[in-house]
Amino acid sequence: LLSLEGTTVRFGGHAALDAVDLAVAEHEIVCVLGPSGSGKSTLLRAVAGLQQVDAGRVLLDGHDQVRVPAHRRGVGLMFQDHQLFPQRDVAGNVAFGLRMRGAGREEQAARVRELLELVGLPGAGGRAVGTLSGGEQQRVALARALAPSPRLLMLDEPLGQLDRTLRERLVVELRELFGRLGTTVLAVTHDQGEAFALADRVVVMRDGRIAQSGTPLEVWQRPADAFVARFLGFEN
Ligand code: ATP
Ligand code: MG
Repeated sequence: LLSLEGTTVRFGGHAALDAVDLAVAEHEIVCVLGPSGSGKSTLLRAVAGLQQVDAGRVLLDGHDQVRVPAHRRGVGLMFQDHQLFPQRDVAGNVAFGLRMRGAGREEQAARVRELLELVGLPGAGGRAVGTLSGGEQQRVALARALAPSPRLLMLDEPLGQLDRTLRERLVVELRELFGRLGTTVLAVTHDQGEAFALADRVVVMRDGRIAQSGTPLEVWQRPADAFVARFLGFEN
């Protein structure tokens, strides 16, 4: 579905993404791990079309997207700081992407109901965003990202602000949900436990490059180098 070929993004002299090669298959769930500043968010933004690429290609279904504007790429992105629109209610937030596509009122309402059920918040459409707990807000942000049925869903620290218990529960729910919908997912996280629980494949980044890519088990059992081992918390 997605492939990056030599994708490079520079800020000043510094390569935030340094000739990255990465392929994501249809229905695959890939989690990107790596220290702060290693280029995880830049990678997602480059795929979404929110970040200009200086070299290399970004292919969706084999078609180069580099000149395709963000709203034409058919990918969904849930940001690291997942801001909901505080002045809109839950339904207004979830319907945002549908409205942008010119969906009719009835269609929007039906889809919103369906999505809120999907993320475990049935009947919450009329609530003010400010009255929701952190976990509920994350679910609304997820429903908003899923609303236009993106072929590729990208999540930047989707559970970032939640406590561990809630994260662990939501990760299991998300994995089940994505499996059911057949969604292809590229997700960024700091948390290796989360990545290992969610992902079919884990990608570890370092300084704008991919240090290792493999199944959670492979990466866990055979870290590619000392950096990956240290990052995973092995003393050596
Ligand atoms: P974190 O885990 O902290 O979110 P990250 O892996 O998502 O980190 P990025 O946001 O992709 O990191 O940033 C990669 C590098 O690019 C960092 O050194 C960052 O300072 C730099 N960078 C990112 N965006 C910009 C920008 N708009 N202008 C200049 N430098 C940037
Ligand atoms: Mg980031």
